[in-house]
Amino acid sequence: MDSEQFRKYGKEMIDFVADYWDHLRDRRPVSDVQPGYIKDLVPNEAPEEPESWDAIFGDLNKVVVDANTHWHHPHFFAYYASANSYPAIMGDILSAGLGSVGFTWNASPSMTELEMTVTDWLAKMIGLPNVFLNSDPGPGAGIIQCTASDATLVAVLASRARAAKVHAKEALGEISHEDPLTLINPDSRLFPRLIAYCSEQAHSAVDKAALLGGIKMRKLRTYKENDYGLKADVLAAAIKEDRAHGLIPFLLVATVGTTPTCAVDDVKALGEICQAEGLWLHVDAAYAGSAAICPEYRYLTAGVELVDSFNFNVHKWMLVNFDCSPMWFRDAREATAYFNVDPIFLKHEHQDKTIDYRHLQTGLGRRFRSLKAWFVLRSIGIKGLQENIRNQCALAKQFGELVTKDERFELAAPVHLGLVCFRLKTSNDANKQLLKLVNDDKRIHIIPAQAHGTYFLRLAICSTKTTSEDITFAWNVICELAEHI
Ligand SMILES: *Cc1c(COP(=O)(O)O)cnc(C)c1O
Repeated sequence: MDSEQFRKYGKEMIDFVADYWDHLRDRRPVSDVQPGYIKDLVPNEAPEEPESWDAIFGDLNKVVVDANTHWHHPHFFAYYASANSYPAIMGDILSAGLGSVGFTWNASPSMTELEMTVTDWLAKMIGLPNVFLNSDPGPGAGIIQCTASDATLVAVLASRARAAKVHAKEALGEISHEDPLTLINPDSRLFPRLIAYCSEQAHSAVDKAALLGGIKMRKLRTYKENDYGLKADVLAAAIKEDRAHGLIPFLLVATVGTTPTCAVDDVKALGEICQAEGLWLHVDAAYAGSAAICPEYRYLTAGVELVDSFNFNVHKWMLVNFDCSPMWFRDAREATAYFNVDPIFLKHEHQDKTIDYRHLQTGLGRRFRSLKAWFVLRSIGIKGLQENIRNQCALAKQFGELVTKDERFELAAPVHLGLVCFRLKTSNDANKQLLKLVNDDKRIHIIPAQAHGTYFLRLAICSTKTTSEDITFAWNVICELAEHI
């Protein structure tokens, strides 16, 4: 393809995407395809000879679009919102167009500095203290990770490094750096004694980070009366018990906006315990963090002055498409030191004066994710983003009122932000049946969750195209299908 063809077909691709968005409503949120569908549509071997772009375009609907799940369909209510907007798509076009890789400042100065700026903008928008800003002279830093899962893993590894450094000598005595088994990472002999905590409601990404990080993670009990948020006394008791068993508590992953019910752990009270007991506190605010840009939802970042690392997904609720997950460190030096492998080919003359983002992530290569956030923040503005969040919260409230007015149904947890957890008042089995009827019917798409043995359905406001009429529509579909149970 030469640049003339790129101009022509690139514009056609833009039209294709814009048509997709304009006609989303004519589709259903989930497709009918079965696993392996693609074998009938795509050959087993790559083509020997080049094909025309007309031929490729001709396949897009049936191979890709018709067979996909439409996350921005107004009747898609599953998981949590996944953001998108035209300015964000433009950012990804430019990122792909530049095709650069930004592991060091030198490798991509604008990628590094725009990311530093945009993470500072975002930190200020949600009310993080200055210590987390790149522009602050202290050791704090902001970076854009791919996902909340990556951020949690990085928090586990960074906190593990700090714990090993702090406790290695007292627990293990002098370590010989000559030991051939532990030459790279001698403090790792302490890892088996470390223990971390999270709420039983925390995302499976936290379990995964514990598995990958090779550390014990204890899941702490929550209480329905406390809306399933983690309480400080539960953490304090667990720390005491584990210390008595000779373990070293080193990390709490708190969640602001859990996946099952959008519960909020008490970060302020938990943070005070973490400070007193020397635990790293990481906050996973993947979904709910965006709402803190509205003054009325600022309670979501209460206690953040006690936090060591904080993360939320701009790609969930800030109109920036996947992936864009900023993470902030109060003190980035531990992670930087631990993740620092400095081969000669990556050294550069400015490395003492600025951030090299390679030291704050698991991989080396990285792409230009700040562009799409920059475009969205500039072209939609904080006011536009607040309006989107407020609209979606109002739609959730509307759905919650429909649930409470119907005596067959009940809320399984209070409506919080854009999420409604609801169920038939009868058995778990009846609710499982209802979920199956709804998702087989395919007019709307939702997923279930469970807390303390109670199974319920979750309706999350996801699409920017969802209106008040769509909420009524979704409720009518659910009521119609509930009649069959
Ligand atoms: C969505 C979500 C995650 C996972 O997000 P990824 O960016 O896909 O890793 C983690 N934690 C919470 C609370 C979430 O809502």
